[in-house]
Parts: sequence; C-alpha cells; structure tokens
Amino acid sequence: MWTEQRETGLAKAGRASPPLNLLLRHLPFEELERLSPLLQKVPLTPRRVFQHAGLPIEHVTFIEEGLISVLAKADESNAVEVGLIGRDGAVGSIVVLGADTAAFSHFVQIGGSALRIGVEDLSRALPALPRLREALHFFIHLSLIQSAQVAACSLSHSFEQRLASWLLMAHDHCDMAHLPITQDLLARSLGVRRPTVSDAFKQLAQRGVFAKERSRVRILDPAGLERIACRCYRVMCRQRDAVKRSKMGRTTLIALTLVLALFEIELAVQ
Ligand SMILES: [Zn+2]
Repeated sequence: MWTEQRETGLAKAGRASPPLNLLLRHLPFEELERLSPLLQKVPLTPRRVFQHAGLPIEHVTFIEEGLISVLAKADESNAVEVGLIGRDGAVGSIVVLGADTAAFSHFVQIGGSALRIGVEDLSRALPALPRLREALHFFIHLSLIQSAQVAACSLSHSFEQRLASWLLMAHDHCDMAHLPITQDLLARSLGVRRPTVSDAFKQLAQRGVFAKERSRVRILDPAGLERIACRCYRVMCRQRDAVKRSKMGRTTLIALTLVLALFEIELAVQ
C-alpha cells in the first residue's frame, strides 16, 4: 500500500509520486527508495529508434508511458516486430543475465516517458535489490513467451486476427484508452503491406470494436475485439498469469516455457 510516509521518502529521493512502471511500482519501499536516486526520467520520442541492435546496452529503461516495439531484422531493409514493451517492462533488462549488447532494435511506437538507470549503477546496486532482480527475471521470462507466441501467430493466423490481438496487447501494455498509432508503422512492424492494414482496419471498425479518430485508435469494445483476436492473445494472458502465480524454480519455468513455445510453433507450421 502506498502511504503518505512512503511518498515523502521518495520525494526526498527525487520522486513525488509512485512510479507508473509496474516492475518498479511493486517493489518493496526499501528497494525503491534505494533505487530512486539512481533513476533518471527521460522522454520517449515517438517514431525513433530507442536502442539499436548490435550496440552496447548503456541503460536499463523502465517504461512509464508509451509503447516500444522490439524489432528483429528480417533482411537488409526490413525488420519485423517480435514483442512489445509498455509500462509493465523495461528495455535492456537482459543485462541482468550478463548480456552487454542489444540483440534487437527497440523502436518507440507510442511516445511517452521512462525512468532509466545506468548499467554500471544497476550492477553495483543489484546485490541489495533482490526483488528488482526477480522482477527483471520475471519480465525476461514473459518476453521469451511473447516472442515465441508472436512467431507462431505470424505463421498460422489471419491478419485481422493478428491485428485484433496486437491492439489488445498494446492496450494492456500501455493502458491508454486512445492508441496514437499509424497504419504505416503498423504495416512495417507486422511485416505486411499498408493496404492489408487498411482493409483490416475497415473491417474491424465496421464491427464496432474500435473507432479510428485521426491518427488515433480508440478501443470501444475490448470483449468484442477479444472474440475476433486469435487464441494467441488469450494464451499470452494465461501464461502471464501462470508465471505470476507459479512457485516453481525460475530455471524450470523458463525451460518449460521454451518447450511449450516450440510445440506451438511446430503445430503452426504443420
Ligand atoms: Zn495468433
């Protein structure tokens, strides 16, 4: 529970209110107070690459508002989205497993703000922050699930179903009623041509599940959108909840997740 006393403590450490990022928000107060002086608020400028693949990871960045697309390079000129990071995650979290270079590019799909910490500061502070380490491992685990499911989805489901799943996931990740997204960016991220996005948007809008307002999408009927979405959205929600509830060891969980994900992909390509 966030108390007035806790807010006062954080204000002294440079923050007047609890963080919006869910990994930080659920930390014990003592860990958050230790971490707060090391965090720096940064803007997320829309339609910019936030972290380039192949370059050193200099910060771990906890998203507070906005949405990041994780992009894997398909060829010299194209990259395809393999994951989304919103206020439930952090860019660069893989450093806690010893990585020092980004495997994927991170593109700001929806602008906002974030709190970042330098990798060296995090490395020094982490031994005294066991719950933060656990939260980052938890997020990496969910990212593995998400990437594998996205691969299975793109091989087996219609674009309309994929788009409905994407809109629901984007809504969950950034918790915004209006999603400022463009069809051009969506087409590039999802690896399809723009007319394909345009046709799917028209069909979904006609069914009354969302409204297109200038360059924003407003979800009107999340339950209706979920009925259109492929099973991947529900699979990801179930797996996210299962990981939260699970008391199994982390290694066992990650191994089990990878086996399930490979099984999904095998089913999809048959
Ligand atoms: Zn799917």
